[in-house]
Amino acid sequence: MKKTKKRFPFFDILLTSLTIILLGASAYLLFIFNNNSSASSALPKNVDDISSTIDEVDSNFAGIKIVTEIANDPNTPFAIQYPQSKHITFNDKVKKYIHRLKYDYLMNIADYKRDHKDFTSELNISFETFQHPNGLYSFVIVNHESIDADDGKTDMQTFHLNPETGEMPTITEVLKADEEALDLFSKVVANYASEDEKLSETLSDDELATLTATDADNFQQFALTDDQLTLYFTEYKTSQETPTVSIPYKEVNHLLATDFQLSVDDLAIKGDSSTDADETPKTDEEDEGNPDVDADKEVSNKKRVALTFDDGPDPNVTMRVLETLEKYDAKATFFMLGSRVEYYPEIAKNVQEAGHELGNHSWTHPDLSKASIEKVFDEINRTSRIIEEVTGEKPYSFRPPYGAFNDVVRQQTDLPIALWDVDTLDWKHRNGQQLLASVKDSVKDGSIILMHDIHPSTADGLDAVMAYLQENGYTFVTVSELLD
Ligand code: ZN
Repeated sequence: MKKTKKRFPFFDILLTSLTIILLGASAYLLFIFNNNSSASSALPKNVDDISSTIDEVDSNFAGIKIVTEIANDPNTPFAIQYPQSKHITFNDKVKKYIHRLKYDYLMNIADYKRDHKDFTSELNISFETFQHPNGLYSFVIVNHESIDADDGKTDMQTFHLNPETGEMPTITEVLKADEEALDLFSKVVANYASEDEKLSETLSDDELATLTATDADNFQQFALTDDQLTLYFTEYKTSQETPTVSIPYKEVNHLLATDFQLSVDDLAIKGDSSTDADETPKTDEEDEGNPDVDADKEVSNKKRVALTFDDGPDPNVTMRVLETLEKYDAKATFFMLGSRVEYYPEIAKNVQEAGHELGNHSWTHPDLSKASIEKVFDEINRTSRIIEEVTGEKPYSFRPPYGAFNDVVRQQTDLPIALWDVDTLDWKHRNGQQLLASVKDSVKDGSIILMHDIHPSTADGLDAVMAYLQENGYTFVTVSELLD
């Protein structure tokens, strides 16, 4: 008895400890279980959980790196580009903005998913870089989000960076510090806005007065280019565009802070840069450029196929595509985005030097059938210019983004419009093997095959596609050879 009595306290402690451990473990298991069940919904809970391929390369602009991020998950497709530098504050600010856009996009998909099945979505973020003669960079980041093939929404934000000091001036710092400067500046902007045909067409007098009122908040979105100051009025943006006003420096030079003022000599050069907007080419060319898939007038009895690569150039994928093409001694056609040619001029040059055909695919990849004449003209002709500038060769044809065009689009260029008849959907499945399957399904003599040289999976699958086509008696030609 004495012995057993002695043992009781020991068992008590043991039992209590066991109970505590068991309770703790079950609470822990419950916690794990709850977490798992909430995380098992189709979409990742956290933006950073979305798998993507990230690529960082030096850009054409000193001190600026360009980050490209492409989603790997076909349920949440996105293609994102943004600038980074050696300055942490700037980098964080840009990343935060991008992160928020991704988050909103994800939430919008989740919302939409509640009532809809089988829909597509898309998020495209790209940017343009401008540089003031004093070295300051202005980055205009434009994002376009669309869910279930709606018109989508466009938004933009400007960021500024002194690449030496890391400073990020606001419009208040760009203008002279005295109160009168802002007031006079507003008046100049109001003048320019009211003389701008497009702005006065789209906005009422009241709206114009509001957006140009003396208030620094009105002018927070701006870019300093080499010869003018551009303002973006995001409050009045549509699903496709943001209204802008551009003012030559000579009109506002006296209102700018010393750091941003140009010398009289600089002004003489920068002040009168003429635009070529009045040279709008008009053509009644009826040639729609639709691939003549029947290719009936063939002299040769060899079957022909044109491989086309859109949305590049890309420093990795385009170079890999070039290697595979060379292996087959084949020529292809690359429909490039002007904004990407600006960033990767040497890659565009490589494509041209390898003897491939260059095509125009617009500057920022908007749906041009919904854009204004000015926007269409600018998107196409700016891209043609940079392709020629960088490669020494003019593009041979134009492929409208999404294949969407109308008479307005057709009238803004004399390039033949080149569509496609075999859509590999490589952007959707991101699967090298499926690339071959989709080509096998629908290729025929005279086909134009649509691929994208921005997805690594396309470079992965290309060899098999070309081997198949060669074995089946196809020769590889360019789009212009097919269209002629
Ligand atoms: Zn495209």
